[in-house]
Amino acid sequence: QIEFIQDHAMPGNQKEKEERLTETQKKKISIEETKKSLPIFPFKQDLINAVREHQVLIIEGETGSGKTTQIPQYLKHAGFTDDNMKIGCTQPRRVAAMSVAARVAEELGVKLGNEVGYSIRFEDCTSERTQIKYMTDGMLLREFLGEPDLQSYSVMIIDEAHERTLHTDVLFGLIKDIARFRKNLKLLISSATLDAQKFSEFFDDAPIFRIPGRRYPVDIYYTKAPEADYIDACVVTILQIHVTQPLGDILVFLTGQEEIEVCNEILTDRCRRLGSQIRELVILPIYSNLPSDMQAKIFEPTPPGARKVVLATNIAETSLTIDNIIYVIDPGFCKENSYNARTGMESLIVTPISKASANQRAGRAGRVAAGKCFRLYTAWAYKHELEDTQRPEIQRVNLGNVVLLLKSLGINDLINFDFLDPPPHETLVLALEQLYALGALNHLGELTKLGRRMAEFPVDPMMGKMILASEKYKCSDEILSIAAMLSVNSSVFYRPKDKIIHADTARKNFFVPGGDHLTLLNIYKQWTQSGYSDQWCYENFIQKRSMKRARDVREQIEGLMQRVEIDIVSNDDTAQIRKAITAGYFYHTAKLSENGQYKTVKHHQQVMIHPNSSLFEDLCRWLIYHELVFTTKEYMRQTIEIESSWLLEVAPHYYKAKDLEDAKSKKMPKQRGKARDELVGGN
Ligand code: ADP
Ligand code: MG
Repeated sequence: QIEFIQDHAMPGNQKEKEERLTETQKKKISIEETKKSLPIFPFKQDLINAVREHQVLIIEGETGSGKTTQIPQYLKHAGFTDDNMKIGCTQPRRVAAMSVAARVAEELGVKLGNEVGYSIRFEDCTSERTQIKYMTDGMLLREFLGEPDLQSYSVMIIDEAHERTLHTDVLFGLIKDIARFRKNLKLLISSATLDAQKFSEFFDDAPIFRIPGRRYPVDIYYTKAPEADYIDACVVTILQIHVTQPLGDILVFLTGQEEIEVCNEILTDRCRRLGSQIRELVILPIYSNLPSDMQAKIFEPTPPGARKVVLATNIAETSLTIDNIIYVIDPGFCKENSYNARTGMESLIVTPISKASANQRAGRAGRVAAGKCFRLYTAWAYKHELEDTQRPEIQRVNLGNVVLLLKSLGINDLINFDFLDPPPHETLVLALEQLYALGALNHLGELTKLGRRMAEFPVDPMMGKMILASEKYKCSDEILSIAAMLSVNSSVFYRPKDKIIHADTARKNFFVPGGDHLTLLNIYKQWTQSGYSDQWCYENFIQKRSMKRARDVREQIEGLMQRVEIDIVSNDDTAQIRKAITAGYFYHTAKLSENGQYKTVKHHQQVMIHPNSSLFEDLCRWLIYHELVFTTKEYMRQTIEIESSWLLEVAPHYYKAKDLEDAKSKKMPKQRGKARDELVGGN
């Protein structure tokens, strides 16, 4: 039992309905009726007129009012797709792009990929006939490389602008410039919250079109005391709602796939034990790596008498609207990129959300009827610990990727680029330095031939460099598989609670000397040899969906390699493979110090090997890691052992012999470090 205290109610602008059970749950209403019921519908003609009249328009409307799904259809209807022109609409998240495109195709009665399509990294679901194209903001950025003036578009909608993702922020600057000399390009900036004024000012005082949303009141509850384990608190709260509250679906905000899977497992288990004592509870996860058939399930109507609980990442905060949510559970966290420009260390950290996010989340409970939001933190924490708004992503990430892309577009003066909010100066400088060390820029900051080739790949510059280096080390086939496996950033290992020992044994059976990249390669090879068998995945506790995705990604990267004319050659000398990886990831080098702990080479930051790593039990003097993840400590995820001399070979601009000199002279520590023992104990 968790005790909640009711605080205030978020006021609505609609009268509270007597009954929480909503119309759509009683009978499935037609698409036509749904469209007409959306808050945006009465403004259809006004909106079309406004678009005709103004080149740039800021659109503000609450989530769920119909902006994303309806506006492109209205504009198509008004003739903006005549003469073979397209309407584009960007989304910060891949799931949103896919799911919204699917919905709009259904509403128009066409096959997805024909008139309505989507484009996300490593997946293009469009055709010659596509008129309405949803895409991630990152993909539109890449389209500039092929079509710098976006000539094939009559309208571009930058949607979810309030999210202020890195790519959206860069798009603002680029598209503002294009709009100046392509007077027939219509530009819509669409946002859910109160940033409209700021957007308007940035776009030379563009008019704001406001769509009044419909909101029912939402009662806000807080916990009496802080909750130590919020996953467990979620499970308890879900069951509490399920048992004591009238029907209506529940939306739970978690930080990522792993948390969602854990929560799903515990909840499923408890429900099974309660059996017929409780009503049916339909549990549905949604996160970005979830396959699309599973994503679509969250929109299916709840069976009569049952209750649906959606376990979602931030994606459900504003990007996706699930109808009939009456209860929201908000633990108050999200996963955020964090970047230290001084050390160049970037990691994903679970951090408290902002007040603005908390209110968006709560608002999801009041879309179809009066709702309730259960915050798993105290009212005091809300008032005193949460920031008002989140900082835009451009101010807290590594800019290597974006700088490389802008350089490829011929934009050289990045300091004076028209940013809505500029990134910190030191972050820009560091990105330039990193690209120089990677060989993508020359000492004048100009793009090199290598840099131009790197920009062809829609991956991090370090991965791009690794891929290109595989040519020199004659192991492109292996690096291709490794890049694909690393890009499937969800775990490839399946670890069900009731078979943990079997699963861990299976995982360890894949270990090969040298480290995790080689283990991933080993898995991919064996899966290939099994004929891409599902049965093989099942027997070896491997997630078959991750493998299928890796295969798709591999195909895409292979295509791009052909474009930059790299032959696919195979090599079983793992030193060569590890050198290619080092050529890309030399920034991520850690060295074992005498007390048995790892420190990054340049900045002497303490980092730990992730307990799942194949190198966890070993002592390697020099390591390269793929990424850092911060939970209780900085963990290196996916590590390989290297030789320090390779660093001088692959990164002479970056490493000097003195960085590496003590390697041979000092003794290896005999014992594992204390911190590592603590960690083992704690696991
Ligand atoms: P906004 O962009 O203003 O937040 P949307 O256009 O995304 O609003 O949503 C409008 C309506 O479309 C919502 O009621 C939502 O539930 C519905 N909708 C969106 N995507 C889907 C989908 N894939 N399946 C079913 N309904 C959907
Ligand atoms: Mg939307």
